[in-house]
Amino acid sequence: MSDEFKACTKCGGLKPLTAFWKDNRPQRRYKSHCIECNGKTKKSHLSPADRIHREIMIEQLISIAKRAPELFDMAISQMEAEQ
Ligand SMILES: [Zn+2]
Repeated sequence: MSDEFKACTKCGGLKPLTAFWKDNRPQRRYKSHCIECNGKTKKSHLSPADRIHREIMIEQLISIAKRAPELFDMAISQMEAEQ
């Protein structure tokens, strides 16, 4: 039953299909990375704290744009400089 196992392209481990998320694309039934590796890449990309921080920044930018549109471009360039 070679169909029930799949090699993860990230960690190289041979794992059961239950260790992979299903892929919505019709030509690929499962993601090429296992669930464990998928979680790792997502965490390293943007942590929950970073996501909240980014949402607060966006809210601040919106309120700046409403009050003083001329300051909006300046705030954007400041935000980009911080990153
Ligand atoms: Zn993996």
